[in-house]
Amino acid sequence: MSTLGKDLRRVLRTDQVLDLAEDVSAYANDATYYIAKKNPDAVALPESTADVSAILKLASLNVIPVVPRGAGSGLAGGCTPVHGGIVIDMKRMNNIIEIDNRNMSATVEGGVVLGNFVKKVERMGLFYPPDPQSSQVCTIGGNIATRAGGPRGVKYGTTERYVTGVEAVMADGTVITPGGKVVKQSSGYDLTHLFTGSEGTLCVITRGMLRLLPLPPSKRTIVVACTNIDQAAGIVSEIIARGAVPAMLEFLANIAIMTMNNYIKPPIPVNGEAFLLMELDGSEAQLDVESVEIEDVCRSLGALEIRIIKNPEESETYWYARSRLYPLLTSVLKRVITEDITVPRNKLPELVRRIQGIAVSSGVLIGLAGHAGDGNLHPTILMGDIGEEMSRKAEHAIEEIIKAGIDLDGTISGEHGIGIHKSRFLELEHGSEQVAIMKSVKKALDPLNIMNPGKIWMEEGGNC
Ligand SMILES: Cc1cc2nc3c(=O)[nH]c(=O)nc-3n(C[C@H](O)[C@H](O)[C@H](O)COP(=O)(O)OP(=O)(O)OC[C@H]3O[C@@H](n4cnc5c(N)ncnc54)[C@H](O)[C@@H]3O)c2cc1C
Repeated sequence: MSTLGKDLRRVLRTDQVLDLAEDVSAYANDATYYIAKKNPDAVALPESTADVSAILKLASLNVIPVVPRGAGSGLAGGCTPVHGGIVIDMKRMNNIIEIDNRNMSATVEGGVVLGNFVKKVERMGLFYPPDPQSSQVCTIGGNIATRAGGPRGVKYGTTERYVTGVEAVMADGTVITPGGKVVKQSSGYDLTHLFTGSEGTLCVITRGMLRLLPLPPSKRTIVVACTNIDQAAGIVSEIIARGAVPAMLEFLANIAIMTMNNYIKPPIPVNGEAFLLMELDGSEAQLDVESVEIEDVCRSLGALEIRIIKNPEESETYWYARSRLYPLLTSVLKRVITEDITVPRNKLPELVRRIQGIAVSSGVLIGLAGHAGDGNLHPTILMGDIGEEMSRKAEHAIEEIIKAGIDLDGTISGEHGIGIHKSRFLELEHGSEQVAIMKSVKKALDPLNIMNPGKIWMEEGGNC
Protein backbone atom coordinates (compact mmCIF):
# COMPACT_ATOMS: atom_id res chain seq x y z
CA MET A 1 0.00 0.00 0.00
CA SER A 2 1.52 3.38 -1.05
CA THR A 3 1.70 6.39 1.26
CA LEU A 4 -0.55 8.31 -1.11
CA GLY A 5 -3.03 5.40 -1.07
CA LYS A 6 -3.03 5.50 2.77
CA ASP A 7 -3.65 9.26 2.75
CA LEU A 8 -6.51 8.89 0.27
CA ARG A 9 -8.08 6.15 2.40
CA ARG A 10 -8.25 8.67 5.23
CA VAL A 11 -10.66 10.83 3.21
CA LEU A 12 -12.40 8.09 1.14
CA ARG A 13 -13.57 4.51 1.81
CA THR A 14 -11.04 1.74 1.10
CA ASP A 15 -12.97 0.52 -1.96
CA GLN A 16 -12.71 4.02 -3.48
CA VAL A 17 -8.93 3.90 -3.77
CA LEU A 18 -6.67 1.84 -6.05
CA ASP A 19 -2.90 1.80 -5.65
CA LEU A 20 -1.71 -1.64 -6.70
CA ALA A 21 0.45 -1.57 -9.86
CA GLU A 22 -1.87 -3.98 -11.69
CA ASP A 23 -4.88 -1.73 -10.98
CA VAL A 24 -3.35 1.67 -11.70
CA SER A 25 -1.72 0.53 -14.97
CA ALA A 26 -5.19 0.59 -16.58
CA TYR A 27 -5.07 4.39 -16.14
CA ALA A 28 -1.70 4.98 -17.85
CA ASN A 29 -3.10 6.50 -21.06
CA ASP A 30 -6.22 7.13 -23.12
CA ALA A 31 -7.21 5.93 -26.63
CA THR A 32 -3.98 7.47 -28.00
CA TYR A 33 -2.10 4.41 -26.79
CA TYR A 34 0.93 5.34 -28.93
CA ILE A 35 1.80 8.77 -27.46
CA ALA A 36 2.79 8.28 -23.85
CA LYS A 37 2.11 6.01 -20.93
CA LYS A 38 2.66 6.67 -17.24
CA ASN A 39 1.03 4.98 -14.28
CA PRO A 40 -0.61 7.23 -11.68
CA ASP A 41 0.50 6.64 -8.09
CA ALA A 42 -3.12 6.13 -7.06
CA VAL A 43 -6.64 6.21 -8.48
CA ALA A 44 -9.55 7.73 -6.57
CA LEU A 45 -13.16 6.78 -7.31
CA PRO A 46 -15.32 9.58 -5.86
CA GLU A 47 -19.06 9.09 -5.42
CA SER A 48 -19.98 12.69 -4.62
CA THR A 49 -18.85 16.28 -5.06
CA ALA A 50 -17.78 16.24 -1.39
CA ASP A 51 -15.45 13.29 -2.19
CA VAL A 52 -13.88 15.21 -5.09
CA SER A 53 -13.42 18.25 -2.88
CA ALA A 54 -11.73 16.13 -0.19
CA ILE A 55 -9.34 14.61 -2.76
CA LEU A 56 -8.37 18.05 -4.07
CA LYS A 57 -7.85 19.48 -0.58
CA LEU A 58 -5.48 16.61 0.15
CA ALA A 59 -3.71 17.03 -3.21
CA SER A 60 -3.23 20.78 -2.84
CA LEU A 61 -1.96 20.42 0.73
CA ASN A 62 0.72 18.00 -0.48
CA VAL A 63 1.18 19.47 -4.02
CA ILE A 64 0.22 16.21 -5.78
CA PRO A 65 -0.81 16.23 -9.46
CA VAL A 66 -4.48 15.38 -10.11
CA VAL A 67 -5.82 14.14 -13.44
CA PRO A 68 -9.59 13.97 -13.96
CA ARG A 69 -10.67 11.04 -16.12
CA GLY A 70 -13.99 10.13 -17.73
CA ALA A 71 -13.86 7.01 -19.90
CA GLY A 72 -10.33 7.55 -21.21
CA SER A 73 -11.65 7.61 -24.80
CA GLY A 74 -9.79 10.88 -25.54
CA LEU A 75 -7.69 11.16 -28.68
CA ALA A 76 -5.12 13.68 -27.44
CA GLY A 77 -3.54 12.04 -24.40
CA GLY A 78 -5.54 14.43 -22.19
CA CYS A 79 -5.98 12.11 -19.21
CA THR A 80 -2.55 10.49 -19.39
CA PRO A 81 -0.98 11.19 -15.95
CA VAL A 82 2.39 12.34 -17.30
CA HIS A 83 3.54 13.40 -13.81
CA GLY A 84 1.95 10.48 -11.94
CA GLY A 85 -0.09 11.56 -8.89
CA ILE A 86 -3.82 10.89 -8.50
CA VAL A 87 -6.22 10.00 -11.31
CA ILE A 88 -9.80 10.87 -10.38
CA ASP A 89 -11.95 8.28 -12.14
CA MET A 90 -15.44 9.80 -12.47
CA LYS A 91 -17.27 6.60 -13.40
CA ARG A 92 -19.18 6.27 -10.10
CA MET A 93 -20.58 9.81 -10.40
CA ASN A 94 -23.07 8.68 -13.01
CA ASN A 95 -26.43 10.02 -11.82
CA ILE A 96 -28.81 11.84 -14.13
CA ILE A 97 -30.03 14.24 -11.48
CA GLU A 98 -32.87 15.92 -13.34
CA ILE A 99 -34.49 16.09 -16.76
CA ASP A 100 -36.70 19.17 -16.67
CA ASN A 101 -38.89 18.91 -19.77
CA ARG A 102 -40.75 22.13 -19.00
CA ASN A 103 -37.46 24.06 -19.08
CA MET A 104 -35.90 21.77 -21.76
CA SER A 105 -32.84 21.22 -19.58
CA ALA A 106 -31.04 18.50 -17.67
CA THR A 107 -28.55 18.28 -14.83
CA VAL A 108 -26.15 15.34 -14.82
CA GLU A 109 -23.09 14.20 -12.88
CA GLY A 110 -19.78 14.35 -14.72
CA GLY A 111 -19.40 10.57 -15.04
CA VAL A 112 -22.71 9.97 -16.86
CA VAL A 113 -22.09 8.01 -20.08
CA LEU A 114 -23.32 10.09 -23.01
CA GLY A 115 -25.11 7.19 -24.78
CA ASN A 116 -27.14 6.37 -21.63
CA PHE A 117 -28.21 10.00 -21.26
CA VAL A 118 -29.16 10.30 -24.95
CA LYS A 119 -31.34 7.16 -24.77
CA LYS A 120 -33.11 8.50 -21.69
CA VAL A 121 -33.90 11.94 -23.12
CA GLU A 122 -34.99 10.50 -26.48
CA ARG A 123 -37.52 8.25 -24.71
CA MET A 124 -39.05 11.51 -23.42
CA GLY A 125 -39.22 13.04 -26.94
CA LEU A 126 -36.21 15.30 -26.19
CA PHE A 127 -32.93 15.70 -28.05
CA TYR A 128 -29.33 16.26 -26.92
CA PRO A 129 -27.43 16.75 -30.20
CA PRO A 130 -23.69 16.39 -29.32
CA ASP A 131 -22.68 13.00 -30.71
CA PRO A 132 -19.01 12.07 -30.42
CA GLN A 133 -18.66 8.68 -32.07
CA SER A 134 -17.51 7.22 -28.75
CA SER A 135 -20.94 7.86 -27.16
CA GLN A 136 -21.25 4.28 -25.89
CA VAL A 137 -18.41 4.92 -23.43
CA CYS A 138 -17.45 8.61 -23.19
CA THR A 139 -18.74 10.70 -20.29
CA ILE A 140 -20.50 14.03 -20.32
CA GLY A 141 -17.77 15.44 -18.03
CA GLY A 142 -15.18 14.38 -20.62
CA ASN A 143 -17.29 15.89 -23.42
CA ILE A 144 -17.54 19.20 -21.57
CA ALA A 145 -13.82 19.18 -20.74
CA THR A 146 -12.92 18.69 -24.43
CA ARG A 147 -15.79 20.61 -26.11
CA ALA A 148 -16.55 17.36 -27.92
CA GLY A 149 -18.28 17.39 -31.28
CA GLY A 150 -19.34 14.76 -33.77
CA PRO A 151 -21.20 14.45 -37.06
CA ARG A 152 -24.10 16.63 -35.89
CA GLY A 153 -21.79 19.63 -35.37
CA VAL A 154 -22.66 20.87 -38.87
CA LYS A 155 -26.26 21.70 -37.94
CA TYR A 156 -26.31 21.75 -34.16
CA GLY A 157 -22.82 22.80 -33.07
CA THR A 158 -20.72 21.04 -30.45
CA THR A 159 -20.99 20.40 -26.70
CA GLU A 160 -20.26 23.95 -25.52
CA ARG A 161 -23.45 25.18 -27.16
CA TYR A 162 -25.49 22.90 -24.86
CA VAL A 163 -23.71 23.64 -21.56
CA THR A 164 -25.51 26.35 -19.61
CA GLY A 165 -23.75 25.77 -16.31
CA VAL A 166 -21.42 23.47 -14.40
CA GLU A 167 -20.57 22.50 -10.87
CA ALA A 168 -16.79 22.59 -10.62
CA VAL A 169 -14.35 21.66 -7.89
CA MET A 170 -11.32 23.92 -8.01
CA ALA A 171 -7.71 22.93 -7.32
CA ASP A 172 -7.95 23.83 -3.60
CA GLY A 173 -11.21 21.90 -3.16
CA THR A 174 -13.58 24.89 -3.36
CA VAL A 175 -16.90 24.04 -5.03
CA ILE A 176 -18.46 26.63 -7.37
CA THR A 177 -21.46 26.58 -9.72
CA PRO A 178 -21.08 29.10 -12.56
CA GLY A 179 -24.00 29.44 -14.98
CA GLY A 180 -27.21 27.55 -14.29
CA LYS A 181 -30.39 26.34 -15.97
CA VAL A 182 -30.94 29.64 -17.78
CA VAL A 183 -30.37 29.68 -21.55
CA LYS A 184 -28.87 33.16 -21.47
CA GLN A 185 -26.73 34.95 -18.94
CA SER A 186 -24.85 38.22 -19.17
CA SER A 187 -23.48 38.51 -15.70
CA GLY A 188 -19.73 38.66 -15.13
CA TYR A 189 -17.03 36.61 -16.80
CA ASP A 190 -18.33 33.42 -18.41
CA LEU A 191 -16.58 30.84 -16.21
CA THR A 192 -18.88 28.08 -17.49
CA HIS A 193 -17.33 28.34 -20.92
CA LEU A 194 -13.82 28.88 -19.58
CA PHE A 195 -14.10 25.46 -17.95
CA THR A 196 -15.76 23.98 -21.05
CA GLY A 197 -12.73 22.79 -23.02
CA SER A 198 -10.27 23.19 -20.14
CA GLU A 199 -9.19 19.53 -20.44
CA GLY A 200 -8.99 18.93 -16.71
CA THR A 201 -6.38 21.66 -16.23
CA LEU A 202 -8.54 24.12 -14.24
CA CYS A 203 -11.09 22.09 -12.26
CA VAL A 204 -12.99 18.83 -11.98
CA ILE A 205 -16.45 19.13 -13.55
CA THR A 206 -18.73 17.26 -11.17
CA ARG A 207 -22.02 18.37 -12.73
CA GLY A 208 -23.17 19.74 -16.06
CA MET A 209 -26.37 21.71 -16.68
CA LEU A 210 -27.42 21.00 -20.24
CA ARG A 211 -29.82 22.46 -22.75
CA LEU A 212 -32.20 20.13 -24.63
CA LEU A 213 -34.14 20.48 -27.88
CA PRO A 214 -37.31 18.80 -29.14
CA LEU A 215 -36.55 15.48 -30.89
CA PRO A 216 -36.86 15.95 -34.69
CA PRO A 217 -39.79 13.82 -35.96
CA SER A 218 -38.06 12.17 -38.94
CA LYS A 219 -34.66 11.53 -40.45
CA ARG A 220 -33.29 10.29 -43.75
CA THR A 221 -29.85 9.01 -44.80
CA ILE A 222 -28.24 9.89 -48.15
CA VAL A 223 -25.06 8.27 -49.49
CA VAL A 224 -23.24 9.87 -52.42
CA ALA A 225 -20.46 8.14 -54.38
CA CYS A 226 -18.03 10.69 -55.87
CA THR A 227 -15.54 10.21 -58.70
CA ASN A 228 -12.71 11.66 -56.63
CA ILE A 229 -11.90 13.28 -53.30
CA ASP A 230 -11.75 16.73 -54.84
CA GLN A 231 -15.28 16.41 -56.20
CA ALA A 232 -16.57 15.25 -52.79
CA ALA A 233 -15.00 18.28 -51.08
CA GLY A 234 -16.53 20.56 -53.74
CA ILE A 235 -20.00 19.08 -53.15
CA VAL A 236 -19.69 19.66 -49.38
CA SER A 237 -18.74 23.27 -49.98
CA GLU A 238 -21.61 23.83 -52.42
CA ILE A 239 -24.22 22.22 -50.13
CA ILE A 240 -23.17 24.57 -47.32
CA ALA A 241 -23.08 27.59 -49.67
CA ARG A 242 -26.68 26.88 -50.79
CA GLY A 243 -27.84 26.89 -47.18
CA ALA A 244 -29.10 23.28 -47.15
CA VAL A 245 -27.91 22.11 -43.75
CA PRO A 246 -27.95 18.34 -43.20
CA ALA A 247 -27.88 17.21 -39.56
CA MET A 248 -24.74 15.22 -40.41
CA LEU A 249 -22.43 15.48 -43.41
CA GLU A 250 -19.55 13.05 -43.32
CA PHE A 251 -16.70 12.84 -45.80
CA LEU A 252 -15.19 9.37 -46.30
CA ALA A 253 -12.41 8.22 -48.62
CA ASN A 254 -13.07 4.83 -50.27
CA ILE A 255 -10.73 3.06 -47.80
CA ALA A 256 -13.10 4.18 -45.01
CA ILE A 257 -16.16 2.85 -46.85
CA MET A 258 -14.37 -0.45 -47.58
CA THR A 259 -13.71 -0.78 -43.86
CA MET A 260 -17.25 0.28 -42.89
CA ASN A 261 -18.71 -2.33 -45.30
CA ASN A 262 -18.03 -4.81 -42.48
CA TYR A 263 -21.14 -3.34 -40.84
CA ILE A 264 -23.14 -1.69 -43.65
CA LYS A 265 -26.08 -3.97 -44.54
CA PRO A 266 -26.28 -4.61 -47.42
CA PRO A 267 -22.67 -3.54 -48.16
CA ILE A 268 -22.35 -0.95 -50.93
CA PRO A 269 -20.17 -1.09 -54.05
CA VAL A 270 -17.02 0.96 -53.54
CA ASN A 271 -17.24 2.53 -56.97
CA GLY A 272 -15.92 6.01 -56.15
CA GLU A 273 -12.74 7.48 -54.69
CA ALA A 274 -14.76 9.26 -51.99
CA PHE A 275 -18.21 9.14 -50.41
CA LEU A 276 -20.47 11.54 -48.58
CA LEU A 277 -22.73 10.19 -45.87
CA MET A 278 -25.50 12.53 -44.78
CA GLU A 279 -28.46 12.54 -42.46
CA LEU A 280 -31.29 15.02 -42.81
CA ASP A 281 -33.70 15.58 -39.95
CA GLY A 282 -36.98 17.45 -39.53
CA SER A 283 -40.56 16.97 -40.79
CA GLU A 284 -41.17 14.65 -43.78
CA ALA A 285 -42.08 17.68 -45.93
CA GLN A 286 -38.80 19.40 -44.98
CA LEU A 287 -36.83 16.22 -45.72
CA ASP A 288 -38.43 16.00 -49.21
CA VAL A 289 -37.41 19.59 -50.04
CA GLU A 290 -33.84 19.19 -48.69
CA SER A 291 -33.33 15.81 -50.45
CA VAL A 292 -34.21 17.39 -53.81
CA GLU A 293 -31.83 20.32 -53.18
CA ILE A 294 -28.96 18.01 -52.18
CA GLU A 295 -29.57 15.66 -55.13
CA ASP A 296 -29.52 18.67 -57.42
CA VAL A 297 -26.11 19.84 -56.09
CA CYS A 298 -24.64 16.32 -56.31
CA ARG A 299 -25.87 15.76 -59.90
CA SER A 300 -24.77 19.19 -61.11
CA LEU A 301 -21.25 18.54 -59.78
CA GLY A 302 -21.09 15.09 -61.46
CA ALA A 303 -21.50 12.65 -58.53
CA LEU A 304 -21.41 8.99 -59.61
CA GLU A 305 -24.37 7.75 -57.59
CA ILE A 306 -26.85 9.07 -55.04
CA ARG A 307 -28.68 6.67 -52.72
CA ILE A 308 -31.54 7.91 -50.56
CA ILE A 309 -32.14 5.37 -47.82
CA LYS A 310 -35.57 5.50 -46.25
CA ASN A 311 -35.45 2.18 -44.37
CA PRO A 312 -34.47 3.12 -40.77
CA GLU A 313 -32.78 -0.26 -40.04
CA GLU A 314 -30.60 0.04 -43.14
CA SER A 315 -29.74 3.68 -42.28
CA GLU A 316 -28.78 2.64 -38.79
CA THR A 317 -26.13 0.23 -40.20
CA TYR A 318 -24.38 3.17 -41.93
CA TRP A 319 -24.19 5.24 -38.77
CA TYR A 320 -23.17 2.29 -36.64
CA ALA A 321 -20.43 1.51 -39.19
CA ARG A 322 -19.33 5.15 -39.06
CA SER A 323 -19.00 5.02 -35.27
CA ARG A 324 -16.93 1.81 -35.54
CA LEU A 325 -14.51 3.18 -38.15
CA TYR A 326 -11.67 4.14 -35.78
CA PRO A 327 -11.77 0.88 -33.74
CA LEU A 328 -11.95 -1.14 -36.99
CA LEU A 329 -8.85 0.61 -38.35
CA THR A 330 -6.92 0.14 -35.10
CA SER A 331 -7.77 -3.58 -35.15
CA VAL A 332 -6.07 -4.15 -38.53
CA LEU A 333 -3.20 -1.64 -38.49
CA LYS A 334 -0.20 -1.32 -36.19
CA ARG A 335 -0.84 2.38 -35.52
CA VAL A 336 -3.57 4.84 -36.43
CA ILE A 337 -2.96 8.55 -35.74
CA THR A 338 -6.01 10.74 -36.14
CA GLU A 339 -5.66 14.47 -36.66
CA ASP A 340 -8.47 16.94 -36.06
CA ILE A 341 -7.96 19.90 -38.38
CA THR A 342 -10.90 22.26 -38.93
CA VAL A 343 -10.93 24.94 -41.63
CA PRO A 344 -13.53 27.46 -42.84
CA ARG A 345 -15.92 25.27 -44.82
CA ASN A 346 -15.23 26.88 -48.20
CA LYS A 347 -11.54 25.96 -47.77
CA LEU A 348 -12.19 22.23 -47.44
CA PRO A 349 -11.40 21.40 -51.10
CA GLU A 350 -8.02 23.16 -50.76
CA LEU A 351 -7.27 21.35 -47.47
CA VAL A 352 -8.06 18.01 -49.12
CA ARG A 353 -5.76 18.82 -52.07
CA ARG A 354 -2.93 19.77 -49.72
CA ILE A 355 -3.30 16.61 -47.64
CA GLN A 356 -3.23 14.45 -50.77
CA GLY A 357 0.01 16.23 -51.73
CA ILE A 358 1.46 15.64 -48.23
CA ALA A 359 0.67 11.90 -48.48
CA VAL A 360 2.59 11.71 -51.75
CA SER A 361 5.56 13.85 -50.69
CA SER A 362 5.99 12.21 -47.27
CA GLY A 363 5.34 8.63 -48.43
CA VAL A 364 2.71 7.79 -45.80
CA LEU A 365 -0.81 6.46 -46.24
CA ILE A 366 -3.31 9.10 -45.10
CA GLY A 367 -6.97 8.10 -44.83
CA LEU A 368 -9.43 10.95 -45.18
CA ALA A 369 -12.61 10.98 -43.17
CA GLY A 370 -14.31 13.56 -41.06
CA HIS A 371 -17.28 15.70 -40.16
CA ALA A 372 -16.72 17.72 -43.32
CA GLY A 373 -19.99 19.66 -43.06
CA ASP A 374 -18.41 21.81 -40.36
CA GLY A 375 -14.97 21.90 -42.00
CA ASN A 376 -13.59 19.28 -39.58
CA LEU A 377 -11.42 16.62 -41.23
CA HIS A 378 -9.69 13.74 -39.48
CA PRO A 379 -6.72 13.03 -41.76
CA THR A 380 -5.61 9.68 -40.40
CA ILE A 381 -2.10 8.31 -40.70
CA LEU A 382 -2.51 4.57 -41.33
CA MET A 383 0.62 2.65 -40.33
CA GLY A 384 1.25 -1.02 -40.99
CA ASP A 385 4.91 -0.38 -40.22
CA ILE A 386 5.99 1.45 -37.05
CA GLY A 387 9.73 1.26 -37.64
CA GLU A 388 11.95 4.30 -37.04
CA GLU A 389 11.89 5.57 -40.60
CA MET A 390 8.13 5.25 -41.04
CA SER A 391 7.53 6.91 -37.64
CA ARG A 392 9.75 9.82 -38.70
CA LYS A 393 7.81 10.16 -41.97
CA ALA A 394 4.53 10.08 -40.03
CA GLU A 395 5.73 12.84 -37.67
CA HIS A 396 6.71 14.93 -40.67
CA ALA A 397 3.31 14.36 -42.33
CA ILE A 398 1.50 15.39 -39.11
CA GLU A 399 3.50 18.61 -38.95
CA GLU A 400 2.72 19.39 -42.57
CA ILE A 401 -1.00 18.69 -42.07
CA ILE A 402 -1.08 20.99 -39.03
CA LYS A 403 0.69 23.76 -40.92
CA ALA A 404 -1.69 23.38 -43.88
CA GLY A 405 -4.69 23.73 -41.55
CA ILE A 406 -3.31 26.85 -39.87
CA ASP A 407 -2.30 28.35 -43.21
CA LEU A 408 -5.94 27.97 -44.35
CA ASP A 409 -7.16 29.96 -41.31
CA GLY A 410 -8.12 26.80 -39.49
CA THR A 411 -7.56 25.30 -36.06
CA ILE A 412 -5.41 22.34 -35.02
CA SER A 413 -8.32 20.82 -33.11
CA GLY A 414 -12.01 21.08 -33.92
CA GLU A 415 -13.16 18.73 -31.17
CA HIS A 416 -10.56 16.37 -29.64
CA GLY A 417 -8.64 18.98 -27.64
CA ILE A 418 -4.89 19.49 -27.35
CA GLY A 419 -3.79 17.23 -24.48
CA ILE A 420 -0.17 16.28 -25.08
CA HIS A 421 -0.64 15.16 -28.69
CA LYS A 422 -0.87 18.67 -30.12
CA SER A 423 0.69 20.81 -27.38
CA ARG A 424 3.76 21.58 -29.46
CA PHE A 425 1.57 23.26 -32.07
CA LEU A 426 -0.54 25.43 -29.74
CA GLU A 427 1.62 28.52 -30.10
CA LEU A 428 1.75 28.11 -33.89
CA GLU A 429 -2.03 28.53 -33.96
CA HIS A 430 -2.60 31.11 -31.24
CA GLY A 431 0.66 33.04 -31.04
CA SER A 432 2.75 33.64 -27.92
CA GLU A 433 0.57 36.48 -26.54
CA GLN A 434 -2.58 34.35 -26.41
CA VAL A 435 -0.73 31.39 -24.93
CA ALA A 436 0.72 33.72 -22.26
CA ILE A 437 -2.84 34.80 -21.36
CA MET A 438 -3.93 31.15 -21.14
CA LYS A 439 -1.00 30.43 -18.82
CA SER A 440 -1.83 33.38 -16.58
CA VAL A 441 -5.45 32.17 -16.25
CA LYS A 442 -4.12 28.75 -15.28
CA LYS A 443 -1.76 30.32 -12.73
CA ALA A 444 -4.55 32.38 -11.16
CA LEU A 445 -6.88 29.39 -10.77
CA ASP A 446 -4.31 26.70 -10.01
CA PRO A 447 -1.21 28.40 -8.56
CA LEU A 448 0.37 25.10 -7.48
CA ASN A 449 -0.10 23.61 -10.97
CA ILE A 450 -1.68 20.43 -9.66
CA MET A 451 -4.56 20.15 -12.16
CA ASN A 452 -3.52 17.90 -15.05
CA PRO A 453 -0.02 19.38 -15.37
CA GLY A 454 1.86 18.97 -18.66
CA LYS A 455 -1.17 19.45 -20.91
CA ILE A 456 -2.30 21.94 -23.57
CA TRP A 457 1.06 23.74 -23.90
CA MET A 458 4.62 22.44 -23.86
CA GLU A 459 6.45 22.33 -20.56
CA GLU A 460 10.09 23.27 -20.49
CA GLY A 461 12.03 20.23 -21.65
CA GLY A 462 8.98 18.53 -23.24
CA ASN A 463 5.80 17.05 -21.85
CA CYS A 464 6.62 13.42 -21.28
C1 LIG B 1 -13.84 5.49 -31.44
C2 LIG B 1 -13.75 6.91 -30.99
C3 LIG B 1 -14.51 7.87 -31.63
C4 LIG B 1 -14.44 9.21 -31.23
N1 LIG B 1 -15.22 10.13 -31.88
C5 LIG B 1 -15.20 11.41 -31.46
C6 LIG B 1 -16.02 12.38 -32.12
O1 LIG B 1 -16.76 12.10 -33.07
N2 LIG B 1 -15.97 13.65 -31.65
C7 LIG B 1 -15.17 14.01 -30.59
O2 LIG B 1 -15.18 15.18 -30.20
N3 LIG B 1 -14.38 13.11 -29.98
C8 LIG B 1 -14.38 11.82 -30.39
N4 LIG B 1 -13.57 10.92 -29.75
C9 LIG B 1 -12.69 11.36 -28.65
C10 LIG B 1 -13.30 11.24 -27.21
O3 LIG B 1 -14.26 10.22 -27.16
C11 LIG B 1 -13.87 12.57 -26.75
O4 LIG B 1 -12.80 13.50 -26.61
C12 LIG B 1 -14.63 12.50 -25.41
O5 LIG B 1 -15.20 13.76 -25.14
C13 LIG B 1 -13.75 12.09 -24.23
O6 LIG B 1 -14.60 11.74 -23.16
P1 LIG B 1 -14.05 10.82 -21.97
O7 LIG B 1 -15.12 10.72 -20.94
O8 LIG B 1 -13.54 9.52 -22.50
O9 LIG B 1 -12.85 11.72 -21.44
P2 LIG B 1 -11.34 11.31 -21.12
O10 LIG B 1 -10.68 10.74 -22.32
O11 LIG B 1 -11.33 10.50 -19.89
O12 LIG B 1 -10.72 12.75 -20.81
C14 LIG B 1 -10.58 13.71 -21.81
C15 LIG B 1 -10.07 15.02 -21.19
O13 LIG B 1 -11.09 15.59 -20.37
C16 LIG B 1 -10.64 15.68 -19.00
N5 LIG B 1 -11.79 15.28 -18.18
C17 LIG B 1 -12.52 14.14 -18.26
N6 LIG B 1 -13.54 14.18 -17.38
C18 LIG B 1 -13.44 15.36 -16.71
C19 LIG B 1 -14.18 15.98 -15.68
N7 LIG B 1 -15.27 15.41 -15.14
N8 LIG B 1 -13.79 17.20 -15.24
C20 LIG B 1 -12.70 17.82 -15.78
N9 LIG B 1 -11.96 17.28 -16.75
C21 LIG B 1 -12.33 16.06 -17.22
C22 LIG B 1 -9.45 14.76 -18.89
O14 LIG B 1 -8.55 15.20 -17.89
C23 LIG B 1 -8.86 14.87 -20.29
O15 LIG B 1 -8.06 16.02 -20.40
C24 LIG B 1 -13.59 9.58 -30.15
C25 LIG B 1 -12.81 8.61 -29.51
C26 LIG B 1 -12.87 7.30 -29.92
C27 LIG B 1 -12.04 6.28 -29.20
